Parts: sequence; structure tokens; C-alpha cells
Amino acid sequence: MALLDEILEHNARFVADRERPLTRQPARKIALFTCMDTRLVEFLEPAMGIRRGDAKVIKNAGNTLIDPAGGVIRSLVVAIFALGCDEVCVVGHRDCGMAQVDEAALRETMLGRGVPLEALDALRPSLREWLGAFRDPHGNVLNVVRQIRANPLIPGDVPVHGLLFDPVAGRLDLVDAGYAVTAR
Ligand SMILES: [Zn+2]
Repeated sequence: MALLDEILEHNARFVADRERPLTRQPARKIALFTCMDTRLVEFLEPAMGIRRGDAKVIKNAGNTLIDPAGGVIRSLVVAIFALGCDEVCVVGHRDCGMAQVDEAALRETMLGRGVPLEALDALRPSLREWLGAFRDPHGNVLNVVRQIRANPLIPGDVPVHGLLFDPVAGRLDLVDAGYAVTAR
């Protein structure tokens, strides 16, 4: 069965199986920025005690942030100013695949699949700036937290926390707590 058919069939069962809508939970007003890693799906949120309705979840490859006016910051702006989020959690994870992505190899693969060279070269920030910004998951969390705190579009009274998640054990380690920073 094609993947799309599997998704639609699962959804039909999901809808039919639901006895009643979930009860309304108090919103936790958290904006969560994390990685798209498949192991985090249905694992990170329960590990954090975040339930449906609690958090705005933003994901990308390696929870990377390289553009100060890009999609991640824009999503945070909407989460904070339009949707009432008052804390931000940046959650990286151990064994993140972004640490293994090789720029030259990725570039060759993309060109081999017919991506025009001009399109690759027109990327701003460049492929190198993006992949090069990711050295290790821990350092990336520190870097992204620092960038969000320093971004003029993000209000200074919003604590921005950094955490590192173990996608096997489910343990969360605190990298950088945001309360002391906002209290200054
Ligand atoms: Zn990852």
C-alpha cells in the first residue's frame, strides 16, 4: 500500500475509534523548538509532560537557526505575540543526524538528482553556513538559545531555555535555564 494511502486509512480508523473529543487541558503556553528526528515523535512531548493543546511545536533538521528573520523566528513571533506563548524551550538531542551531514556529499547528491547548481549557489544562508553552524547537538542548543535571546524580535521577558534530550533513554538534561537571564 502506498504511504499516503496508509496515512489516510490510519486516519479513518483514528477518527472512527475516538469515543469523544479529548478533554480540554490548560494550555502550558510553551513554544517548543526541536529536531525533526523520527525518534522524537510521540516521545519527546510525553517525556516533557506536554500534552495535546499545551505547546506550539516548531521542528526542523537539527533544530538549527541560521536566519535571524527566517521561519523559526517568525514562528516564535507568532507563538509569542499572537498565540500567548510565554516561554521558549529549545530541545536538541544526542546522536543528532545533522552532525553527520557532510556538505560536499549532500551537494553532490542534490546535483546528481537534478538540482540546478545555480539554485544551490543562490541559497542564503549558504549550505555551508547552515551545515557548518552545526558542530554538535549541545553546542548547537547553546548557540540557538543565545541567538533567540539576542533577537530584537523576541521580547526580553520571555525565558528561553536550552535542553538536550536522549532519544533512547528519554532523559532531558538542562543545558541553559532562561529564568536567570530574563530576571536581570
Ligand atoms: Zn536531530
